[in-house]
Amino acid sequence: MSDHHHEVACIFCKIVHGSIPAVKVFENEHAVAFLDINPVNKGHVLLVPKAHHASLAELPDDLAAETARLVPRLARAIQAATGADGLNLIINNGQAAGQTVFHSHWHLIPRFLDDAVNWPWPHADYSGDELNQMQFRIERELS
Ligand code: AMP
Ligand code: ZN
Repeated sequence: MSDHHHEVACIFCKIVHGSIPAVKVFENEHAVAFLDINPVNKGHVLLVPKAHHASLAELPDDLAAETARLVPRLARAIQAATGADGLNLIINNGQAAGQTVFHSHWHLIPRFLDDAVNWPWPHADYSGDELNQMQFRIERELS
């Protein structure tokens, strides 16, 4: 797999290249999926595009598509294998978002109705013009 852009010091590049071990559950030419070593719940899988890109925003569209198309199949397999009631797909991007390994990776976390995982995200409110202003700013960036 030496044709993929990789960084020598990157732990996930090492897993992609097989120079450190990982418990892989799926692999193709674009991506690899392996068990997270410290799972939120058992069966927690990391789906990792093979080429080194630090975060989601840097993934080329084609690689993002090749990675994303594996998600439903992996989600079905994880849910069937663990008996999970649900599943979170989470991608942490940047230190502020909790990213610790700076090779983009997608968490697939099996969830159970009675598990101890809490999602304590606060919810804010928009006031006045803010909602439409935010729409304007994001749409402008996309055009
Ligand atoms: P993040 O905080 O989104 O960057 O997630 C990094 C994840 O990688 C954590 O959930 C770690 O448990 C996991 N992790 C780190 N090193 C390894 C490894 N060698 N094998 C499997 N999972 C790992
Ligand atoms: Zn890497």
